[in-house]
Amino acid sequence: MGHLVTLVPGDGIGPEVTAAALLVLDAVGADIDWDTRHLGSSALDRGETSAVPAGTVESARRTGCVLKGPVSTPRDGGFRSPNTGLRRELGLFVQLRPVRAVPVAGGSAPPLDVVVVRQTGEDLYAGWELAPGSPAAVEALRAAGADDVSASGVSLKAFSPAAVRRTAEFALRWAQAHGRRRVTVVHKATVMRETDGLFLRVCRQVAAERPGAGTTGGVELDDALVDNACAQLVRRPAAFDVLLTGMLYGDVLSDLAAAVAGGVGLAPGAAYGPDAAVFEAAHGSAPRHAGQDRANPVGLIRSAALMLRHLGDGERAARVESAVDAVLAEGRDLTYDLAPGTPVGTRRCAEAIAERAASSG
Ligand code: NAD
Repeated sequence: MGHLVTLVPGDGIGPEVTAAALLVLDAVGADIDWDTRHLGSSALDRGETSAVPAGTVESARRTGCVLKGPVSTPRDGGFRSPNTGLRRELGLFVQLRPVRAVPVAGGSAPPLDVVVVRQTGEDLYAGWELAPGSPAAVEALRAAGADDVSASGVSLKAFSPAAVRRTAEFALRWAQAHGRRRVTVVHKATVMRETDGLFLRVCRQVAAERPGAGTTGGVELDDALVDNACAQLVRRPAAFDVLLTGMLYGDVLSDLAAAVAGGVGLAPGAAYGPDAAVFEAAHGSAPRHAGQDRANPVGLIRSAALMLRHLGDGERAARVESAVDAVLAEGRDLTYDLAPGTPVGTRRCAEAIAERAASSG
């Protein structure tokens, strides 16, 4: 009996890129049984009363492992982000976005190989919001000395020492286990002392408490202001190794790094909590491209490789990753975002990766 994994195909291009990832996993003979569940609009379309159905959450807790396509969030009205709902239900507290540039179609690649570690659950993305004119908004704005207290909306940014500590411990442990040498805390503590200042202080404390702290064998911790980090990522991509940050900066930095490395369609991701890990690409559901066999499947295929490694199958993970690198380098079977002139579809790109991965076994 193989590993049991929850599969969430998602919305928009989600079902196409998940089918592509399954094709590649089959090609390397990954021993996985799937429990297919739904989230977001596709759950509601199937008659679920919640965008985060209890059955999906229960399956994720039971299997402890989820491969997930992107899910759409309505921009206004409707339900709140199903991703946030799932994250809360599963207690996912940290997200990993590795971005490695490889040569595409005979070109050269910038020297970029960074891993963005994002704390999740706090920061401006937590959804702690106060409506304009509400008593809580007026009170908060008055206490902070804002100019227009009666008509301004408020999104709260908060970091707690316990949550930051857990993320920093994860980042330093992960860096050490994966042969990384430096973790850079990205912040704007010069302006946001109560939040980013706390984030930086706690990260430094955690690093100082580690056995071997300060020795050359350990992982070094330094820091960078977020605006400078963005500029450096573009101008000197080799400057960074692991970036440790909150949810908002982590989102911006990982998309920026992905763009420098060749495009948002290429970047994988993983999120971890005490009971489950969720593997999904960094990109969204790209509704414009849905159902057209156009989307780049590489982000989710690389996420599937991260999943294999999580399940203890490093050998098959490496075969998938090498097959992706080879197909990107060859340049014959690339989707529209990488080969504007002569693109292939999602399915063909996945087949090319699957053929390579199968022949390397
Ligand atoms: P997006 O990532 O879907 O699209 C941004 C741009 O990148 C678009 O031009 C799109 O065409 C392109 N793109 C994205 N993925 C691609 C791929 N695999 N291949 C080729 N091109 C690709 O971001 P968005 O437009 O801001 O969001 C669309 C929806 O996705 C929203 O509802 C958003 O809430 C949701 N979203 C979901 C997740 C998730 O489920 N993890 C993450 C981000 C956004």
